[in-house]
Amino acid sequence: MSTSNEVKTPTRSEPESGAASNFLREIVERDRAQGKHGGRVVTRFPPEPNGYPHIGHAKSICLNFGLARDFGGVCHLRMDDTNPETEEMEYVEAIQRDIKWLGFDWGDKLFFASDYYERLYEFAEQLIREGKAYVCSLSEEEFRTQYRGTVTEPGKPSPYRNRTVDENLDLLRRMRAGEFPDGAHVLRAKIDMSNPNMKMRDWPLVRIRHASHYRAGNKWCIYPLYDFAHCLSDLIEGITHSICTLEFESNRELYDWIVEAVGAKDPNNRPHQYEFARLNLSYTMMSKRKLLQLVETKTVAGWDDPRMPTLSGMRRRGYTPEAIRELCDRVGVAKNNSIVDLALLEHLLREDLDKKSPRVMGVLKPLRVVIESIEKGKVEEFDAPLWPAEMDRAGSRKLPFSREIFIERDDFMENPPKDYHRLAPGREVRLRHAYVIKCERVVKNEAGEITEIVCTHDPASRGEAAASGKRVKGTIHWVSAAHAFECEVRLYDRLFLAEAPGSLEDTAKELNPLSLQTLRAKLEPSLAASKAGDRVQFERLGFFFADPVDSKDGAPIFNRTVGLKDSWAKAAAKTAESTPTKEPKAEAKKEKAPAKEAEKKELSAEAKALVAAHDLAPADAALLTEEPALRALFDSALSAGAPA
Ligand code: ATP
Ligand code: MG
Repeated sequence: MSTSNEVKTPTRSEPESGAASNFLREIVERDRAQGKHGGRVVTRFPPEPNGYPHIGHAKSICLNFGLARDFGGVCHLRMDDTNPETEEMEYVEAIQRDIKWLGFDWGDKLFFASDYYERLYEFAEQLIREGKAYVCSLSEEEFRTQYRGTVTEPGKPSPYRNRTVDENLDLLRRMRAGEFPDGAHVLRAKIDMSNPNMKMRDWPLVRIRHASHYRAGNKWCIYPLYDFAHCLSDLIEGITHSICTLEFESNRELYDWIVEAVGAKDPNNRPHQYEFARLNLSYTMMSKRKLLQLVETKTVAGWDDPRMPTLSGMRRRGYTPEAIRELCDRVGVAKNNSIVDLALLEHLLREDLDKKSPRVMGVLKPLRVVIESIEKGKVEEFDAPLWPAEMDRAGSRKLPFSREIFIERDDFMENPPKDYHRLAPGREVRLRHAYVIKCERVVKNEAGEITEIVCTHDPASRGEAAASGKRVKGTIHWVSAAHAFECEVRLYDRLFLAEAPGSLEDTAKELNPLSLQTLRAKLEPSLAASKAGDRVQFERLGFFFADPVDSKDGAPIFNRTVGLKDSWAKAAAKTAESTPTKEPKAEAKKEKAPAKEAEKKELSAEAKALVAAHDLAPADAALLTEEPALRALFDSALSAGAPA
């Protein structure tokens, strides 16, 4: 029986310091060498407090706080709270808790965009006075359909574009005073209606929204939009490197335009935006909006349900910050989107838990075994080590052993194949830390179900195999029936069956119906003293964590954090009839599998049209026609002026 978790570590090609180079580090190094920003490095993590942070946010947290740490800079935590309808204090608190748990600290650099509303308003008036912004009274729909233009056609000026400064100022002040309903007017940047980048076509900056804000209350009824608030918050805080995900690439031109328009003329001394590829994990959905749906529909027990990809859910399930940080390090920082295999995170987690989890025994689906060669009422005690010998760590517990024990139902087979090394009629198996037993007969009820196994033991086989000299092929775990501690165990599995969940609007259709199984397990008695937050490995079963929320003193509840092996890879390999790959890929898949599939297929008419129109590789065109989300991204990138 293997007591340790025998997975190999994918070797790292980078230095151990966490300072693996990437294009963002190179930019920071270059800027410092050139004396840009006076050599300062100030980054920020800018969450919108409209949900709990998820594993994707961890990537951005590690990146921003990591850069600041490694270059002697600081990282601000800024709540990007400019949307009154969805933001809440509960989320602000969750964000702070999760960042600390991940091991990062913002010190006294906690900021709120909502604290800048007055200054942002002043900037808005300044832009109007300098002829760089105007109040537009077209509805959003009118502007979009009649004025904005398309990717291939320029837009045309709003009829309100040439309002005088006085008229604009008057309207903006009355917007602020609450004289107009939502949507009646909007403040627009006055840039260029024929710019190939749609964001440069008089993008809106400030809108009317009669809604109460979780911090500002009812003080405001106009709110800055993302493109206005974000860059100016960066400017106000003296951010040097403003790092965001790739979807914001086309916003960069507007970012630069706005900071320059309010007077930050020196490109060596104002914030710059850089984009990197977001973290995507297979079988994991990372949209706060959709995660909120799961919470609101009570599909899960809350934001911290151990199946959720939120940091609070993962923490409650038993994930460690070390494993998550290691994942973020390993996948690196890229410029192109990819999907990382969830198996990599699980592998890193096992590696970390292996060091942190003492080995104990628990039986999840018990089957009673009576060892008739042991006297009734006799109790023997084994002093069993908590750690595998090769770890060379102290610690043991007492394991009582008696005539009646429980073994795992799966560890017995009435008609086993030849190579079955566990218990079967006439066969022998070793009970971990105890004796070798032999199955003499099976007891069944009227329905023909096995209710009990009757065995004998070999008194000469006491202790471990090596000591007793008795060799049998299999070793199984067990618990003494009279001493067993009955306990609730929650077996968690992936929340989604879909490899890329979230593509359907109705995410319920993508759920794994077996993502949670609750059992009454029989555990070894030492576990009765477990406290919330304790970690153990149930030998042969997996890593478990005493639920920090529902466990009570004397009544722990154990969550399965992760199994000992990647059962998903095995199942997948079985269906594919190929040998299972033991090790998850250490690197992000560079390309999604469908791209390769697509190469083989005949191109659809639509794909051919894309090839012809944009000179795309056939496989890329096929992929675009098959994945609506990707197609939407492609189209919006095109409309933003990016090359195909
Ligand atoms: P979601 O799409 O899940 O709602 P978001 O981007 O709207 O996420 P924010 O609160 O705005 O959520 O995110 C805060 C920061 O985290 C942003 O800088 C964002 O770019 C970054 N971020 C969000 N998701 C990911 C991800 N999957 N990988 C890396 N960074 C991410
Ligand atoms: Mg966002």
